[in-house]
Amino acid sequence: MRKLLLLLGGGFLLITACNKTSQPNDVFSDDETAFPTERSCASNDVLQVQLQDDPSLQKKMDDIELFTRRFIQNPQALRSLEDGTIEIPIVVNVLYRTTAENISQSQIQSQIDALNKDYGGSNSDLSQVPSIFSNVKAGNIGVTFVIDQVVRKKTTKKSWGTNDAMKKSSKGGINATSPTTKLNLWVCNLGGGILGYAQFPGGNSATDGVVIDNNAMGTTGTATAPFNKGRTATHEIGHWMNLRHIWGDANCGNDQVSDTPIATGANYGCPSFPYNSNCGGTTHAMMTMNYMDYSDDACMYMFTAGQKARMLAVFASGGPRQGFAQ
Ligand SMILES: [Zn+2]
Repeated sequence: MRKLLLLLGGGFLLITACNKTSQPNDVFSDDETAFPTERSCASNDVLQVQLQDDPSLQKKMDDIELFTRRFIQNPQALRSLEDGTIEIPIVVNVLYRTTAENISQSQIQSQIDALNKDYGGSNSDLSQVPSIFSNVKAGNIGVTFVIDQVVRKKTTKKSWGTNDAMKKSSKGGINATSPTTKLNLWVCNLGGGILGYAQFPGGNSATDGVVIDNNAMGTTGTATAPFNKGRTATHEIGHWMNLRHIWGDANCGNDQVSDTPIATGANYGCPSFPYNSNCGGTTHAMMTMNYMDYSDDACMYMFTAGQKARMLAVFASGGPRQGFAQ
């Protein structure tokens, strides 16, 4: 009982810390057609808006946090994972104004291939993980991805922003297909310098899924450097599986994972190792090569074992995405 109370306290601390989030790159640019040179993900900003709009969401997320911690302490409870792999069917919803934005089937497949490498631990750059992190790298997460269907819709909209309009046919978008058993992925011109955003577990199922800018989707076609290795989707699906940014969306914040070093903030571009932080009073290398940092696609290539456990908890019996493990 004492332990449970301690966990409860920790859970609420986490949520408080996450409320104080403001990344400088989240400000929308005036030029809606500009493609960013630095990564920017709107997942946490969208979450803050949802928390304001829905007073019950905080409690749901606190409960999921408690469930996650219980699962990590006792992963045997995850009975539905006995065969070791969860297959995630992806519904790709493509919204296009120009011919180029109507991305090809091969570009979509290149994204699925990249996801399967990154989540399977078979990405060739995994070998670049610095030796001080080799004991915590996750390798195979135990999740695979397949295309379930591709839904395409022509639009006159130049850019969509982060208000979930692309997920609603009433706003010119495409409604989610079976969001409790399929991962919906919307591809569109997001604008505002945003590469993508995800909805965390616990949110409204009608808007559940991830959104990826068409220039950050896959590894071919309209995919544009330095975001043309499919890692925007790897990052956003990490959020969809309840991962936080590696800096905990705060200065020296908490990402709820014990084997990721505390980070000062987001890291951009391609930091050379070791890229140090003084968080917590010690000088230590940040894990800039983690998929949940803001590094360029070519410079992020690992999850940790702690992140893996956190992701698998969402699919456990009683977890927020248990419908995917059946
Ligand atoms: Zn993010």
